[in-house]
Amino acid sequence: MLDQIKIVLCFTSHPGNIGAAARAMKTMGLSQLVLVGPKNFPCEEALVRSSGALDILDNAVVVDSVEDAIEDCRLVIGTSSRNRALPWPLIEPREMAKFIDGKPESRPVAILFGRESVGLLNEELQLCHYHVNIPANPEYMSLNLASAVQIISYELRLKHLEKNPIAEEPLELKDSELIATSEQVDGLYQHLEQTMVNTEFFDPENPKLLSARIRRLFAKSHLNQGEVNILRGFLSSIEKYIKRKTN
Ligand code: SAH
Repeated sequence: MLDQIKIVLCFTSHPGNIGAAARAMKTMGLSQLVLVGPKNFPCEEALVRSSGALDILDNAVVVDSVEDAIEDCRLVIGTSSRNRALPWPLIEPREMAKFIDGKPESRPVAILFGRESVGLLNEELQLCHYHVNIPANPEYMSLNLASAVQIISYELRLKHLEKNPIAEEPLELKDSELIATSEQVDGLYQHLEQTMVNTEFFDPENPKLLSARIRRLFAKSHLNQGEVNILRGFLSSIEKYIKRKTN
């Protein structure tokens, strides 16, 4: 699906936004960038802001009109931060991704992004089947162009991942990472109690709730075997130390 989606930036003024949009696309696995009448492109600032997404910029197609950008597309979606005079079928980014995913017969798809100053013009929005609005703060709806590209691309990525989950490497657990068995935790407890008796911290004649509290502490910790070994090693070192001092 991702390779059949064109991100179309219309009449972008700041080349930095083109670079940042290319980066946003690449991080989400999108690759087709179309630039309609960019004010300044190619441009060093776009390269810098793309931060390595150079292939997207190199392969970007530059055209003169929105019509040229969308001519081979079967579904055209226009992004907009505000409601326009004539209401148009309006969807949210997540719905948009679901729609694109569910309708392979509608691809290739073009997603249009507008000018930094005034967005997409009404005539451009009227070329679209749907408008997409990122539900931002109603008092401040207008995102930076590349940020809007990032959010739209992310929703497409999430949908893509739903269908193509990342193959998980079979986990190879070291013994030390396994959660300690009840027997191992009990061994630690007995060891600790014995050491506490030896250091006279704990009086078995007057146990109060110490035993329960320590067992609860262990229960909350989900100790693994490595951690049990460290604590038991430390307890053994205390015992040796006491022996050395008392001999
Ligand atoms: N000042 C312009 C906004 C330009 S922001 C205006 O009032 O329309 C540049 C582009 O980023 C917009 O044309 C649109 O493509 C995208 N964009 C910004 N905020 C958005 C939002 N909340 N929802 C959808 N697209 C948005």
